Order: sequence, then C-alpha cells, then structure tokens
Amino acid sequence: MLMAAPLLLDLLWPIFLMLGIEHARIEPDNPPFLRIDLYDYPWSHSLLMTVVWSVLFGGGYWLATKYRPGGIVIGLGVLSHWVLDFIVHRPDLPLYPGGPKVGLGLWSSTRGTIAMESALFLAGLGIYVNATRARDRTGIIAFWTFVALILFFYVSSIFGPPPPDWKAVAWVGTASWLLILWVHWFDRHRGPRRVASA
Ligand SMILES: [Zn+2]
Repeated sequence: MLMAAPLLLDLLWPIFLMLGIEHARIEPDNPPFLRIDLYDYPWSHSLLMTVVWSVLFGGGYWLATKYRPGGIVIGLGVLSHWVLDFIVHRPDLPLYPGGPKVGLGLWSSTRGTIAMESALFLAGLGIYVNATRARDRTGIIAFWTFVALILFFYVSSIFGPPPPDWKAVAWVGTASWLLILWVHWFDRHRGPRRVASA
C-alpha cells in the first residue's frame, strides 16, 4: 500500500490512456525526460482529481482496516505524487479538468533530474533497508532483484531509444501493476528490524 499510494496516479494513467479518456504523444527528439507529451490527462493528474483519488484511496484503506493513521498516510502518499510531479513536469498538470496548467519543469534538465531522482531513490532505499530485514532468502533475492530491475528501467529510459508510440507507453505502464505485486511478495519475506530499546 505504501508503494501503490504514491504511484497511484501513474497506475491509473495507462488505463485511462487505453480507454481513450486521456491522451499522450511521443516527441522522440526531445531530451530523455520530455519524450512523452502529456497534453491531456486531467482525470489521473489534475490537482483536484488527485485530492479525490487521495480521499478515495486513503479513506477506502481506513474503512477496510479501521486503521486511521494508516489511512491518513496512504492518502498523503497519493497526494505526494502530484507535489513531486509539479516539481519535475513542464506546465502540463491541470489544477482541475479544463483548468490552468502548472509545472516547474525540472525534467528539462537531464542532469538535475538524475541528481534529484537518484538522491530520492537512495534515501527511500536506505529507509526501507534500515526499517526491515530479510526473514529468508526470498526476502534478500526478490528484494535486491527488484532494486536492480527498476534501476535498469530507469537507466534504459534515459539512454535507450524513445518509445515507439503512446500505446507502448500505456502497455508498459499497465505492466507496472506487476511491480506492486512484486513489492508485496518480497515485503512478506521481510520483517521489521528490531528497534534497540532505550
Ligand atoms: Zn504522474
């Protein structure tokens, strides 16, 4: 859930693309992080709809588990996607469907993006490794294979060829649901690290 929440908008987006209610096109000659022209995605990525998804997902979790702090964290997790997207996207994020579009555009700088995203990735990895420990071999192998794979995806998205068309992007995006299942799998083979008592 902690992985699915911040990714939720990007899990919904490829489905909305396939359904034809949102649209994107490829700009193959742009710098790596700007190759997908996100000209129409108000249902997955407007600020207003992000708040709606965040209330639905966090509230749904709270109702299902009766665990309120968990629901709040899940809801904030969904919201965090928009805040981080606001920093990196060109001004293509609508405030509400049909409304003005915003974005600070860090993705225009390939180096700046790699520096920030790598730092965030390492910080997240560090937090998870410090908070959990493997219960068995699967908890080690499945976890580190996952880390290696998403690093590989990241590097190939920068240095590899641009996607052929928006359909390829939508299929790869839909396949990212499998990554959530993968996280669920290795996380069940890891437990909390024992906290030293004071
Ligand atoms: Zn997004």
